[in-house]
Amino acid sequence: MKDIYCELIIPGKLPVDIIFETERVMAFHHTQPYWERHVVIIPKAHIDSLANYVDDVELNKDFFEAIRIVTKQFNDQYGGCRISSNVGDYQSSKHLHWYVHQGKRLRGEDGKAIH
Ligand SMILES: [Zn+2]
Repeated sequence: MKDIYCELIIPGKLPVDIIFETERVMAFHHTQPYWERHVVIIPKAHIDSLANYVDDVELNKDFFEAIRIVTKQFNDQYGGCRISSNVGDYQSSKHLHWYVHQGKRLRGEDGKAIH
């Protein structure tokens, strides 16, 4: 199973533009965005899905700090944003991730460009 986060992004093999980072989470600009502005927030320890998330006070704190910082930045700069998380068949990578996105959709669910 492909896990771009554990295989490439967390070890630093694929450089990403990091917005916010703690010892437990990373928030960075998507390398192949689906929206005009598209940020990904992940836990650094492998968790496969929000559906299997086991409550973790420290991780919750870091997730919400990352979400607050990114959504505030988008709200201040662009007037708003959306946050989402794919689960199960909707996940192309089986590593829990949040999306914060804003603006026009650039690619469909299949990854192909929308013209
Ligand atoms: Zn992983």
